[in-house]
Amino acid sequence: MRVYLAVIALLAAVQCKELFNGDHVLKVHAESEDHIQILKELERDVNSGLDFWTHAVSTERPVEIRVPHSSLNAVKVFLKKNNIHFTVMINNVQELLVREREEMVHNAEMERKTKSLNFAAYHDLETIYKFMDTLVAKHSNLISKEKIGSTFENRTMYVLKFSTGGEKKPAIWIDAGIHAREWISHATAVWLADRIATDFEENRAPVPSILGHVDIFLMIVANPDGYVFTHRSPNTHYRFWRKSRSVTSNPKCPGVDLNRNWDAHFGEPGASNDPCAEDYHGPSVQSEIEVKNIADFIMSHGNFKSFMTLHSFMQVLMYPYGYSDTDAPDKTELHDVATQASQALKSWHGTVYKVGSIFHTIKPASGASVDWAYLHGIKYSFAFELRDTGKYGFLLPADQIVSTAKETWLALKYIMKYVCDNPY
Ligand SMILES: [Zn+2]
Repeated sequence: MRVYLAVIALLAAVQCKELFNGDHVLKVHAESEDHIQILKELERDVNSGLDFWTHAVSTERPVEIRVPHSSLNAVKVFLKKNNIHFTVMINNVQELLVREREEMVHNAEMERKTKSLNFAAYHDLETIYKFMDTLVAKHSNLISKEKIGSTFENRTMYVLKFSTGGEKKPAIWIDAGIHAREWISHATAVWLADRIATDFEENRAPVPSILGHVDIFLMIVANPDGYVFTHRSPNTHYRFWRKSRSVTSNPKCPGVDLNRNWDAHFGEPGASNDPCAEDYHGPSVQSEIEVKNIADFIMSHGNFKSFMTLHSFMQVLMYPYGYSDTDAPDKTELHDVATQASQALKSWHGTVYKVGSIFHTIKPASGASVDWAYLHGIKYSFAFELRDTGKYGFLLPADQIVSTAKETWLALKYIMKYVCDNPY
């Protein structure tokens, strides 16, 4: 433990130097319960400057940790002294960030020339919002854009509504990007919006039949402030922002984890009460305006039958609960639906997803949106962790966007059809 404390002291000393070049992402392999406890303790130390992309929950899968260049030696020494094996997943984060930015700039020029959106590219908020307007104009018989409120920084939050008409039809909710840095989720949602519209237009099953039964509400950017922040400049401080951008009780640590702020066992284990933590739950239930806007919208609609949320990464399809290791009352059915959906997903490129409750597949999480939806009567509630399993993590190359979206679409279609066929 003395070694551990020495490392932390060193890390704290260098944290303020923002040297981005040479940041690594390490893949750390816990081989015992002791290792897991050591890594958990390291993650709990918010002053360490380490960014845990995944978490120590079992010896079955490695933990990915972004380590600032300035702390690299100390962390390696610490892991070796504790006999914890590790490999290098990314040896220069900055290089990937610069490449990602160059691709985006180049793509934006191409899009200006061709006047069309390239689905195989990442886009900023402004471009996504313009895309929504273009899509709505092109498919005005099917799609409308609804304002559901404003963010902390006063950006408008939009939902696309796909509807063939009818009052208060049962509805399906899909959101993406509640965690800002998970760019593949926004990009997948952009592709999905276009695909739902074209499948309907071209009468491709099962979309016309699904839209005969239900309305689909799609929120492409659930955390606009955080998303804008991740685009500010190609350095790790911005690009890996996860939370909202609200002011907290600690002026040095803004932002709340929007997926720990819901009225679902808020503040219980599986969320932090430290504003500097990545999973800070906020000062009170639904303190975050973004969460409140979505929750109010869904509750006032009153007839949602399914709630799905897109995250990355780890390739997991999850259902409630996150706050507890007890089984949800509908666990058997939810597990079966998720298993079938993951099989459909796999049929496209062979991408393998793990299936299970949030608690058992990722880690305990209280105040999460899927638990909120389920506890408020929306039975078919699922969370996706999209590609990959830890080669690029949050920096998934843009050339994987379309294949990720296509396979995810197969799973979503399966679930949406199931929801239509199993009214409750
Ligand atoms: Zn997430």
